Amino acid sequence: MSQNTPYQNFVKTLTKATKEIGLSDEKFEALKQCENIFETEISFKKDDGSTEKVNGYRVQHNSSRGAYKGGIRFHPEADLNEVKTLASLMSLKCAVVNIPLGGGKGGVQVNPKNLSKTELERLSRAYFRAGTEANVFGVNKDIPAPDVYTNPQIMAWMLDEHEKIIGYKSPGAITGKPVELGGSLGRSYATAQGGFFVLQKYLEKTRKDLSQTTIAIQGFGNAGAYFAEIVSKAGGKVVAASDSSGAVFCKGDECEIPKLKEYKKTFGGLRNTFCEGDTCDIQKMKAEKMEVLTNEELLELDVDVLVLAALDGVVHSGNAHNIKAKTILELANGPITLEADEILHKKNIDVIPDILANAGGVTVSYFEWVQNRSGDVWSENLVNEKLKIVMDNAFTDLYEIYEQHDKQDLRTSAFILGMQRIINAMELRGWL
Ligand code: NAD
Repeated sequence: MSQNTPYQNFVKTLTKATKEIGLSDEKFEALKQCENIFETEISFKKDDGSTEKVNGYRVQHNSSRGAYKGGIRFHPEADLNEVKTLASLMSLKCAVVNIPLGGGKGGVQVNPKNLSKTELERLSRAYFRAGTEANVFGVNKDIPAPDVYTNPQIMAWMLDEHEKIIGYKSPGAITGKPVELGGSLGRSYATAQGGFFVLQKYLEKTRKDLSQTTIAIQGFGNAGAYFAEIVSKAGGKVVAASDSSGAVFCKGDECEIPKLKEYKKTFGGLRNTFCEGDTCDIQKMKAEKMEVLTNEELLELDVDVLVLAALDGVVHSGNAHNIKAKTILELANGPITLEADEILHKKNIDVIPDILANAGGVTVSYFEWVQNRSGDVWSENLVNEKLKIVMDNAFTDLYEIYEQHDKQDLRTSAFILGMQRIINAMELRGWL
């Protein structure tokens, strides 16, 4: 497994891309720099009357291309180092898809699973109150969204707190809201939809046919299950999927996705449909033309495309040699370690990197912000049409760089694209 921190990994990839395009030290340092770091101790009342104090952060990395944009996570291990890395990656991600926003990220060091709903509301409001009073958040300044363990309800509480303080309505101050409060249609599956558009474009460039493409998906949550549904409806062959309970392989031609979703709903996990502990119902598997696999076995299937939609660091130096997929699509953030990236590159396995592959989410967040600021409400079809244009253009721009920079991988090309756009904006503003 990688011993590097996420920030070290980020800097290493940035360094590689910097060398590739001969960027000066001054520009490299400027890209590493975070513009503002907001740290606060948040106090909130518990249901038993006591007060709990937790650390909260908001990092604003780069605003040369527009207001800061990025999620807020509630996680016991959220720390400043992680939030800085994620804010920097958001600047690059927004630049790669060419939306006029910069990068930010927020984190609160807390385990939300230990909080009641009312405690969660008090915490969410306290965090956003602190940020609003310190002039951190605002519709033209820094626009948060949900991330790990935060959701549309939390965004609604935060927006309400923000509007109470500023004294007027400002729905665009936060995205990923419930649709009733100005959230965008299509947001719930935007990450998967964007990843699908990118895969389509990749297959077109590499002259492959989706209907002949076999796909295994690690992670059957928001990103993975929606992706399975979208790609399967479009004609791709999903042959296996996994969740935290384990994996299933469909022995017929391909998996029926509604069936997998039903399994997960009924049995709480894909593997749980057939197994209890180590005991599996072979007759049931036969009848359903399915086989159970371990999560590790799913990663090593001989498929055309492996979609990583679960956790970070799942492909590492210990298992990268065993990967047989021809292409990997990173819907999750950081699912491949740097060491594994190098191994995969040597094996000629293309990795479509997270900062492009999962950027559909932030793109539809941007659409939400645009709708809120103009007072318009777009149809779901319009959202998806616009998303396709953004993702297609980003892939085309990235691929052009990939073809220019012989022997580099798609991740380095994505970094080059994002970095060049940010540097260009900084130069135009006279910051460099
Ligand atoms: P989620 O919690 O809805 O789903 C995660 C899935 O991964 C679940 O099905 C879980 O059972 C499964 N899982 C956990 N451990 C596993 C393991 N060891 N092997 C196989 N499966 C395992 O989360 P999500 O929203 O789908 O996010 C998944 C990834 O995508 C994360 O890295 C997230 O940061 C990234 N992402 C999501 C969005 C989004 O809009 N949802 C946007 C950008 C990036």
